Amino acid sequence: MQTFNLHTHTSRCFHAVGSDKEYVLAAIRNGVKVLGFSDHCPMDQYTVYQDRMKLSELDEYIASIQSLKEKYKDQITIYIGLECEYLPEYKHQYPEFLKKVDYLLLGQHFNRFDQKDFTEEISLEEICTMKDYVIEGMKTGWFTYVAHPDYFMFLLENYPQNGKEAICQIAHTAAKLQIPLEMNLKGMSKGKKMIDGQMDYRYPNSQTFELIASENAPVIFGLDCHDPKTFDDFYSLQNQLKIEFQHMKLNYVTTCPLK
Ligand SMILES: [Zn+2]
Ligand SMILES: [Zn+2]
Repeated sequence: MQTFNLHTHTSRCFHAVGSDKEYVLAAIRNGVKVLGFSDHCPMDQYTVYQDRMKLSELDEYIASIQSLKEKYKDQITIYIGLECEYLPEYKHQYPEFLKKVDYLLLGQHFNRFDQKDFTEEISLEEICTMKDYVIEGMKTGWFTYVAHPDYFMFLLENYPQNGKEAICQIAHTAAKLQIPLEMNLKGMSKGKKMIDGQMDYRYPNSQTFELIASENAPVIFGLDCHDPKTFDDFYSLQNQLKIEFQHMKLNYVTTCPLK
């Protein structure tokens, strides 16, 4: 069982609930050894939704998690991170973040500041751009892992050929650079739907992970926690997915990539 979770949000993103401390206590209560906070990175240019902290709030976020890190250091190891889209026009910002936080996750929810989230709007062209940006992002060395690589599947009922090619190329790069790809446990809570004639999760989708397995890229569980009480399901969701995906030869990460 994976006892570390590096994908945790806070109420600063307006679509998560609970105090920072409640996330820490829920993780400790469930025997989690390493807890990484990775709230959505501030990106003041992104005005489509108010779904993240402002750049001016970053220092308060860091200070809050830092104080919990100290307070609970005998019970749990805490890291401070951010989940970021990789947008080439914003790339000067990532090294600035890394001066302040311990790590970054690459979670591509859109490709441009003026674009809706992929769970609301997706096109084959955007899948290709997403793939190009994620691969470029991985090569920078700034990102600890790639969150929900198949997020683009949310609205789709067929796995498009260019989606498969995108995942193969991302997985190939991930294997080469040893950057884990996430099996996103929050995606499971959205339930299954008919995709290519079989009931499947939108993400983490079984076709995605068959392709990832064939490239032997490392995979990591991420709770993508937006509510402290979901820590209660952290291990049962891992178990369930391991059983559902047991026919695949997945290369599970066994130790926390942060030190
Ligand atoms: Zn979120
Ligand atoms: Zn995300």
